[in-house]
Amino acid sequence: MGIILVDMDGVIADYVGGIERELSHAGIDPIPRSMMTRYDFSVYSKEAQEFIEEIPQRRGFFYSLKPVEGALEGVIELSTQDEVFICSAPKISSRYCHSEKSEWIKNHLGKEFCKRLILAKDKTLVMGDILLDDRPDVFGIAVPKWKQVLFRQPWNSHIQEMPSFSWSEGIKRFYDIVRTLWD
Ligand SMILES: [Mg+2]
Repeated sequence: MGIILVDMDGVIADYVGGIERELSHAGIDPIPRSMMTRYDFSVYSKEAQEFIEEIPQRRGFFYSLKPVEGALEGVIELSTQDEVFICSAPKISSRYCHSEKSEWIKNHLGKEFCKRLILAKDKTLVMGDILLDDRPDVFGIAVPKWKQVLFRQPWNSHIQEMPSFSWSEGIKRFYDIVRTLWD
């Protein structure tokens, strides 16, 4: 048994989908995700980026995010084999982010899973064996105990030096990757 830290936005909660929904409501056409080749919204115009910056501060934004396809099943399957914790860096500019992330977990994974939510701006301080995260540059003040498996998304598809995984590949594939990291 090991400790697996699973990131939230972009791994189990569809953050970009939430942004796209709000852009559409405002009459701005979302840019296809395949064109988001960087871990930010720099593919959008400056005006759109200013609008995007404000969206996550809205009440209900984090709670209303849709689960990433296959993520809930994947997390539950992982937790039959390992100690799974959800490890998310909250948006400090949002008054609602912390509580809504907890409510989201309760809603989609159940009350018991709320005890497994770790909100940490610096994930290098969190102990674990594996971090599954879509951010290609998870840095902080410590040398992390965990090794990262990159959750594959268009915005990190240029990263080749890190093992990557997506829920559609199945949990067996995840453990194959993990074995190569720790053997
Ligand atoms: Mg993320």
